[in-house]
Amino acid sequence: MKKVALYPGSFDPITKGHVDIIKRSSNLFDKLIIGIFKNSTKSKAWFSDEEKVEMIEEILKKENINAEIKIFNGLLVDFMCKEKVNILVRGLRALSDYEYELQFTLTNKTLAKSEFETVFLTASREYLYLSSSLVKEVAQNKGNLSFFVTENVEKRMIERVESFKR
Ligand code: ADP
Repeated sequence: MKKVALYPGSFDPITKGHVDIIKRSSNLFDKLIIGIFKNSTKSKAWFSDEEKVEMIEEILKKENINAEIKIFNGLLVDFMCKEKVNILVRGLRALSDYEYELQFTLTNKTLAKSEFETVFLTASREYLYLSSSLVKEVAQNKGNLSFFVTENVEKRMIERVESFKR
């Protein structure tokens, strides 16, 4: 059976921690789909769904990573069924991720209409404490973003912070 994997997330914005998981999982499966949870109307996201796709596309191209990007809403398991996904990829950082990730995967297993396995990849040491929300705080305080996000994302974050002031 073809191994079709889905790596879902908010990616607001994509960090080097996400890129690391994407790179590593793109080598493990026949196909990798990066699934962006569609922003809800009341979402406080910094970036639109389209901007997220563009940023991720730029990274895939630059890094020569083979993966598809899709935006989805509704139940994760419905999307998985539609795309014939049989592997869910998640990243595990510190212990604090564990409980949420376990809840996330077990809830989806209960709802699932077809069998799937969850594969947890441990975060690389340098990205262990990296999260999109912290990176946004660093950006708002004009900190150096180059440790946390790729150049294209850094540029867009700086522009976004500037636009908040207008
Ligand atoms: P959400 O906010 O919807 O949980 P995220 O985009 O924050 O989505 O995360 C998507 C997935 O990527 C989750 O499994 C999360 O644990 C993982 N992840 C996030 N940041 C990192 C990181 N620095 N290293 C490894 N995995 C990460």
